[in-house]
Amino acid sequence: MPKKTTISLIKCDVGSLAGHHVVPKPLLDVGEKNLKVAKENGLINSYYVFNVGDDLQLLMVHEKGESNSEIHQLAWNTFQEAANKAMKLKLYGAGQDLLKNAFSGNIRGLGPGVAEMEIEERKSDPIVVFAADKTSAGSFNLPLFRIFADPMNTAGLIIDPEMAGGFKFEVVDAQEGKKVVLKCPEEMYELIALIGTVERYIVSRVWRARDDLLCASSSVTRLSLIAGKYVGKDDPVMIVRGQHGLPAVGEILAPFMHSYLVAGWMRGSHWGPIMPVGLKDARCTLFDGPPRMVALGLQISNGGIACDDEGKPMIADLFADPAFDLSRKETLKCASMLRRMGEFEPARLSVESMEYTTLPQVIAKLKERFQPI
Ligand SMILES: [Mg+2]
Repeated sequence: MPKKTTISLIKCDVGSLAGHHVVPKPLLDVGEKNLKVAKENGLINSYYVFNVGDDLQLLMVHEKGESNSEIHQLAWNTFQEAANKAMKLKLYGAGQDLLKNAFSGNIRGLGPGVAEMEIEERKSDPIVVFAADKTSAGSFNLPLFRIFADPMNTAGLIIDPEMAGGFKFEVVDAQEGKKVVLKCPEEMYELIALIGTVERYIVSRVWRARDDLLCASSSVTRLSLIAGKYVGKDDPVMIVRGQHGLPAVGEILAPFMHSYLVAGWMRGSHWGPIMPVGLKDARCTLFDGPPRMVALGLQISNGGIACDDEGKPMIADLFADPAFDLSRKETLKCASMLRRMGEFEPARLSVESMEYTTLPQVIAKLKERFQPI
C-alpha cells in the first residue's frame, strides 16, 4: 500500500472577544499548546493554528486517515479546553458550537466543522485551504463550480489534456440527509439546478473524473439542523488540491476576483457579500461582517507541511494581496446597498431560513390578533 497523507481542518467557535468579532490570543494559545504536544508525541506531523473571525481553526497534517478518532479527539479536547478558558474569561458565546457533551469517536455531528482529505502525495502537492466566517456551507458552491467546471474561469479545462473528461461533484441535500454525484461537463446544467440552491444543496467533494483523484473536500455541517434551532452560522472550511492535471492555484483563486452573495452575516439571517481577506483582516465588524474568507496556500511534503529552515510550516496568506482589492471594494459597495434595505427581503433571508432564528417567536405573538378578511 502506498503511503498516504491526511489533511484535517477542524474548526469551532469556542468563544470570542467583543461579541462575535475575533478569537483572542489566549484561546489560540490553547490550540498552539495542544497541537505542539501532539506533534511531539508523533500523532500529527505538522499543524497551523489560526482564526477567521470568531472561529478557532486547527489545520493538522498526519498519516492517520480521515475520520480518525485520535485526531478528532485531539480537536475535541482542544475546543473543550479553549471553551473552558473562554468561560472563565466571560468571553462571548463561550463553547457555542460544542453542541454535545460527550465525544464518541468522531467530531462530526457534535458542532465543529470538519474538512478532511487523504491523499497519495504527488511529486509536488500544492494545497489551498479556505475558511470563512459569518456564512454557511453553501458559500463554496459558486467558486467550486467555477474552479472545476467553468472553462471561462479555469483555462486548464480547455488547454490541459490531463483535465480532459472533467470533474465529478458530490452534492449533499442538507434537508433530506442524502447525496448525489454529478459529472461535468455532461451534467453541468443539472448540477447548477441543484447547487444554485445554496441553502439546501452543498458541494461536499470533487474528484477528477478520469481517475477519481480527490481534489476538493468541504465541511457540510449545518449547525441549525443539528440543534433544531439557531445556534450560529456554519462558517465552512474547505481543502482544494491544485496543479499537475488539476486547476492551477491561480485558477482556484480566480473566482474571488469578484465578490458574491452568501447567506449568514448578522444573526445568520441576512444575505451579504463575501470579502476575501488576509489573516490580519479576518475579523468581523460591520453588522458583524461583512462575511470574510481566507485562503492559505501550502505544500504537502513527506506526510506534513513543507517547513522553513527553523521547522516552521510555510503558509502563504493568498488573499493578502492587492489583486483582491477590487473584490473587497465590490463587497463594501454591495454591503452598503443591502444594509440600506434593513430588514426587507431579499436583504434578509427567506422565511424558510428564518425558521431557525428567533423571528418566529416575534410573529407568534401577533397570531391571536389576526382577523379573517
Ligand atoms: Mg463564526
